Amino acid sequence: MPQQLSDRINSLPVSATLAMAAKARKLKNQGIDIISLSLGEPDFNTPEYIKEAAIKAVQENYNSYTPVDGYAELKEAICLKFKRDNNIAYAPNQIVVSTGAKQSIANVAQVLLNPGDEVLLPAPYWVSYSAIATLCEATFKEIPSSIESDFKITPEQLEAAISPKTKLIIFNSPNNPSGSIYTEKEYRALAKVLENYPDIFILSDEIYEHISYGTQTFSFATIPNMYERTITVNGVAKAFAMTGWRIGYIGAPEWIAKACTKMQGQITSGANCIAQRATITALTEPVSNIHYMVKEFNKRRDMVVKLLKEIDGFKVNVPKGAFYVFPDVSAFFGKTIKGHKINNASDFSLLLLEEAKVATVTGDAFGAPHNIRISYAASEENLRKAIQQIKDLVS
Ligand code: GLU
Repeated sequence: MPQQLSDRINSLPVSATLAMAAKARKLKNQGIDIISLSLGEPDFNTPEYIKEAAIKAVQENYNSYTPVDGYAELKEAICLKFKRDNNIAYAPNQIVVSTGAKQSIANVAQVLLNPGDEVLLPAPYWVSYSAIATLCEATFKEIPSSIESDFKITPEQLEAAISPKTKLIIFNSPNNPSGSIYTEKEYRALAKVLENYPDIFILSDEIYEHISYGTQTFSFATIPNMYERTITVNGVAKAFAMTGWRIGYIGAPEWIAKACTKMQGQITSGANCIAQRATITALTEPVSNIHYMVKEFNKRRDMVVKLLKEIDGFKVNVPKGAFYVFPDVSAFFGKTIKGHKINNASDFSLLLLEEAKVATVTGDAFGAPHNIRISYAASEENLRKAIQQIKDLVS
């Protein structure tokens, strides 16, 4: 029988981040000593007090289906969190809990986008935004930036990118992969442009909000006139070292939240019950509990930036948040290193994997073809070793 997959899945690229992580894992399993700096995943364990909440939930027999949009107590906790951390007033009927922020984003895209609608993606952007738009048969348009503009777009660029087909724009600050953070002033200037286009929705992905190094983060939905058309996405994966627990959530206008609930009612029935109970604890306890991880990331950022700057050909920005650094490596394009001809960032990333034994992710996947992404959510020892191996290779 011919293997006839749908056009939908055939047109979908694989996730570059997950693909590189899988490749690194496979090589490791073959006994090759790969240092994986590909995946954005804290190398910490989930804090004890959150694990204890999960154990208690198991013992208390939380084993049934949950409400599709999440436990009432969790939605209350999320409302309090939005008020406490972001100064956004959401009511529980505006909250939907999902299987990771990735599903939250996919839900929103599915319920808002028609075929032919256009999604604006300030680049660099997380690999799955474009893929999720493609799944909805929408198109996406990149708004480019570079290291010179600290990877941020200007109001003029936004204005120029908008077309009659534009339905959604996705902001992500702190940004994956650049680590850049839009200030309140910068976000307000972008909102000023959007005021003239009332049919455009804004998805504000704030998953890295707690991982910032001294720069104040700002929530787009707090801007007057933007609340009614902004969907705020967040989750516990990054800040609470809970990537595998898969809990994300949105705060949104009620009609969008309702549609997302309808969507996941047909797809997952709701997020995992134990992870939801643990998330109540994660969100209700003080955020200061996780500052030890942020402090450590900050230390590593400083070290990684310093070491990378010492390598000729690496142009490095200083990320303000998240746990990635996104150097411009275009100085290597056209060169041949150890018999590998480097034409683009993918070639360079592959070279690092094969010859320096370091897994990174090519910037192409993030809409930034001059760069590679290095995750510093890894031990100091591994980071030092990896950068030395890169330096030895390319110097
Ligand atoms: N968001 C993380 C990353 O960018 C995890 C992998 C993924 O979902 O893309 O590495």
